[in-house]
Amino acid sequence: KNEQQKHEELKRLDKKHFLHPTSSLKQQQEEGPAFIFTEGEGIYLKDIQGRKLMDSLSSLWNVNIGHGRKELGEVAMQQMGTLAFSSAFSAWSHEPVIRLAAKIAEMTPGNLNTTFFTSGGSEANDTAFKTVRHYWKLKGQPEKKKIVSRKKSYHGLAMGATSATGLQPFRDFTTSLAQDFHYVESTVESLRQLIEEQGADTIAAFISEPIQGSGGVNVAPVGYFQEVRRICDENDILFIADEVITGFGRTGKTFGMDHYDVVPDIMCIAKGVSSGYAPLGGMVISEDIHQELIDLSDGIFMHGYTYSGHPMCCAVAMKNIEIIERENLIENVRVMGDQMLQGFNWLEKEHDLVCNVRGLGLLGAIGLQSKTEEQLAPKVVNEALKRGLICRAVLYDGQDTLAFAPPFIINKQEMDEMITILHESLIAVE
Ligand code: PLP
Repeated sequence: KNEQQKHEELKRLDKKHFLHPTSSLKQQQEEGPAFIFTEGEGIYLKDIQGRKLMDSLSSLWNVNIGHGRKELGEVAMQQMGTLAFSSAFSAWSHEPVIRLAAKIAEMTPGNLNTTFFTSGGSEANDTAFKTVRHYWKLKGQPEKKKIVSRKKSYHGLAMGATSATGLQPFRDFTTSLAQDFHYVESTVESLRQLIEEQGADTIAAFISEPIQGSGGVNVAPVGYFQEVRRICDENDILFIADEVITGFGRTGKTFGMDHYDVVPDIMCIAKGVSSGYAPLGGMVISEDIHQELIDLSDGIFMHGYTYSGHPMCCAVAMKNIEIIERENLIENVRVMGDQMLQGFNWLEKEHDLVCNVRGLGLLGAIGLQSKTEEQLAPKVVNEALKRGLICRAVLYDGQDTLAFAPPFIINKQEMDEMITILHESLIAVE
């Protein structure tokens, strides 16, 4: 009875006092929170009603090493007890941030060797946009300001990140920045055409996710990124890879761009760097850009957040990376990723309404084709939930898609269970 009362109380307080991110405010008021989570263990979450749910999206594509890792809690406690916070502004520093920056340099390809830290992916992308503008200004080309991104891209929801996001519904609040942001189709012709129209001398950078996540897990056409890299070089346009979802192993290689042998000028990271155990992101720049910024610098780099390089977050990220390496988790991503895609292919054979399954490593999607106007993905999500599986519907741009990004630790039996639940859920909506 007490538990029931507590649940009702939390629902009431949630509705009145908590403005949920990316949510339907009306639905939130009518229905209250669908889950109030209380615990996580491995690939499962538990909620206040005692339901155990498989977390097939690693929550927000981020809890890559799985839930309930006490080791990370211990590191956080140790760091907080020693040095909870100190500024990293100006010439101040501390060991966790130095060690993590050096570790990231070791992992990133090419000469991407210097990191600016943020609290998440949106700040990382905004940082990149300000940095490329700063860079071109120092190089005597202040008119090179525009950012080009791809349609269906998602780069986060700070002002700059939202503006670069190629999913129109997000951009209602940022229309005043529209002149500096442009979106291309995922073809090299579209990029070439845009450069011709706008002029390379007005474009600062091109940004892309190696595989689009929130836009529906879209894999770029073969040869696309290699050609984009060439076009950027020819036109003095910096190439920013948004590795917020794909970084640190999600696709079966350390970084998504590693699949294409493309080294960007700037890489943005977040999510997987700390597996969600602490809010952390960053912008990694090449040695060339770093050196130019140093050589041409005319004063202070006027950009920094209070939590740029938070000691606890950095210590936690370091331990997270250690676990990924120690447990050889990227290898498991490859093996389980193959099994996931096989499972999706089997579902496509079994169900007429499944089409266009896709994925790379443990990042995948199932397309759905409805015989009516009604979108199917939300119904499948509901049916899956009844059977203990949380999965995500992607409906932007008229899509009807289910997206998946299970934790790297998922095993064969759990993957079978996920596919079985999807199979049963599809039968229920057929
Ligand atoms: N970039 C990509 C590719 C993302 O998927 C996300 C978040 O989903 C972001 C940026 C924004 O990151 P954050 O939500 O940490 O600000």
